[in-house]
Amino acid sequence: MLDLTKIDFKKMGFRAGIEVHHQINTKRKLFCHCKPILSHGEPDYRFERYFRPVLGEMGDFDEGMLIEYEKGYRVIYHAYEDSVCVYEQDEQPPFWPDNDAIYLGFELAHWLNFSALVDEVVVSRKQYLDGSITTGFQRTMIVARDGWVPIGEKKIAISNLTVEEDSARKIKTENFGRTVYYNLDRLGMPLVEVITDHNDCDNPQDLQRAAEYIGLTLRLSGIGKRGLGVVRQDVNISIKGGRRVELKGVQDLSTFVDLATREVARQDMLIKIAAMLKERSFKKNELEHIYIDLTDKFAGSNIPKNNIIMGIRLPKFGNLLGLEIQPGKDFGQDIIEKAELISGIPRSNLFHSDEINKKALRKLREKTLRKNKEQFQENFFFPVVTDKLNQDIRKTLRLKKDDGYFLTLGPQTWVIHAMKKIIERAKMALDGVPEETRRFLPDNNSEFLRVIHGQDRLYPDTDTPLIDMDIQKIEELKKKVQKRPWEWETEFKEKYGLDYQKVKAMIRHGTITTVQELIEKFSLNPKKCFFFIEETLLALRREGFDTSKLTIEKTAEIIKGAEDGVYDFNQVINIAKTIINNPKKSLKQALSDLKIRKISKTELQKLFTEALSQLTKFKNEKISVKDGSINNRIADKITGTIMRRTNGSISGKTVYDFVLKNLEGKTSN
Ligand SMILES: [Zn+2]
Repeated sequence: MLDLTKIDFKKMGFRAGIEVHHQINTKRKLFCHCKPILSHGEPDYRFERYFRPVLGEMGDFDEGMLIEYEKGYRVIYHAYEDSVCVYEQDEQPPFWPDNDAIYLGFELAHWLNFSALVDEVVVSRKQYLDGSITTGFQRTMIVARDGWVPIGEKKIAISNLTVEEDSARKIKTENFGRTVYYNLDRLGMPLVEVITDHNDCDNPQDLQRAAEYIGLTLRLSGIGKRGLGVVRQDVNISIKGGRRVELKGVQDLSTFVDLATREVARQDMLIKIAAMLKERSFKKNELEHIYIDLTDKFAGSNIPKNNIIMGIRLPKFGNLLGLEIQPGKDFGQDIIEKAELISGIPRSNLFHSDEINKKALRKLREKTLRKNKEQFQENFFFPVVTDKLNQDIRKTLRLKKDDGYFLTLGPQTWVIHAMKKIIERAKMALDGVPEETRRFLPDNNSEFLRVIHGQDRLYPDTDTPLIDMDIQKIEELKKKVQKRPWEWETEFKEKYGLDYQKVKAMIRHGTITTVQELIEKFSLNPKKCFFFIEETLLALRREGFDTSKLTIEKTAEIIKGAEDGVYDFNQVINIAKTIINNPKKSLKQALSDLKIRKISKTELQKLFTEALSQLTKFKNEKISVKDGSINNRIADKITGTIMRRTNGSISGKTVYDFVLKNLEGKTSN
């Protein structure tokens, strides 16, 4: 079993960088005048496209682009009158870009300490053949280089800041992923891309913090748009002896450490497998494109019409394919997923030689899914490949003890395509970690998405001239920079003892200046102010109260009353409710409405004695028992009585502690 707890990031030479893509607040889209809004419901019209690569600057095709092309997508677009025009349809060249969006990029560059700002913006094209952009390329502009964010004592460098157009939203796929539907509403919305330096981060925690700082800066500055789906984050990870792998789609930064751990485990195992192959003196040319038809051996196994089964030899791969490289996932799967995605053959129609084992990870997984009654397509080969058939297949493929094999079921052209990809990927095993783009799965493992795009993918946009920027205006944007997230963090920790998690919450909710005003201007307890603004008001909003009706002065008065001991802090929520319902009411009136008054120690003592005597009178329970559990039960009852009689003017915990202490006094007699 793979033990993720043993992973030592430092020892493994962990390196990681992050790309934050965040939509920004503008009135229009970047290259047309459509509103940057999302549209829902039935589209106003649809159209479809196929994609092919174009030659790069040097007259070559980008390899990554060719692989995309190989997938042979049919793309169907959904368009809406209110969010899409001829530009998104690629029927017209771009309009003049939105200068406001570009200047927002420069403003953000100041916030993030960028030192090299461009004075002439060049629009470039970045190829995308997955259909998410109708033109087949995204228009992008670098506005600054060399920024940084501090993490403790060190600086994480930010290499680039670009302003670019967003892609279309994928709605669904059909026909084994060959037909893809996109909603065009998001296409062309402006976003900033912030890329940290891959070499500066040697542990996932620091990278998570850097990404959070960038996100919080976008929030504090007001540059970032708010809402669902406005941010997408990709990371790149490498370890010593491996290669850089891009991972798409980190949804939630809190899962980042787990994601990174699993990726490091995968890369580490791939490096170990490469070493094992070398030990077995494996050579790449031993992998041959010889596909052997085995359909006859499966007679009577219900093979779908026009489908065949082919096998392929993997010399010296025996017992390696079943090695676990991520929790619940074996090396064979890592090879298969590329073939699966490109050829369209589902995983359930693929099989590798180590899956004959009863404890094969894929078999265990199907067992769990079946137990949880989850929908899944059972692997065609699992029930039919018996030990006997396995021996027979091995003989036909002329395999030696150390050799492995793959089986594929499907239409002939698809099967051949899949086998070709399996051989291609298997060859890479000798080099360890393939340089590729992967995407995160719901279980935090990852799967192949595409080959990393090369340099040929980026080339100048011939439709747009150079954009001269107003240098003085860029300089003046510096004035807009205020306290940065890490500065808030230091200040709140040193002055008020509030930690980073709290600061993060306040920045995200836009409450940090209010909390500071309450602490500074009204001399209130920082923790109480934080609690009231972040917890109490949130609870009220959830109940449907309009908390904006509470002025800062009233808020301060309510917190102060609790601090002065006029009432317990647990009453602030009820007092706030009363005042929100009638903002003209004074605190004194609210307290009288709620029958809240200060309870003295003497009164509490009196209430206790009364409650106790009532209890003994009615229940006739013997108090003089030294059993703690009975004491607790009695304390509960008495506390309840006192709480009812004082109308909650005093906290339950205070009463309970008081009662318990006094009961102990009684029972120890
Ligand atoms: Zn438009």
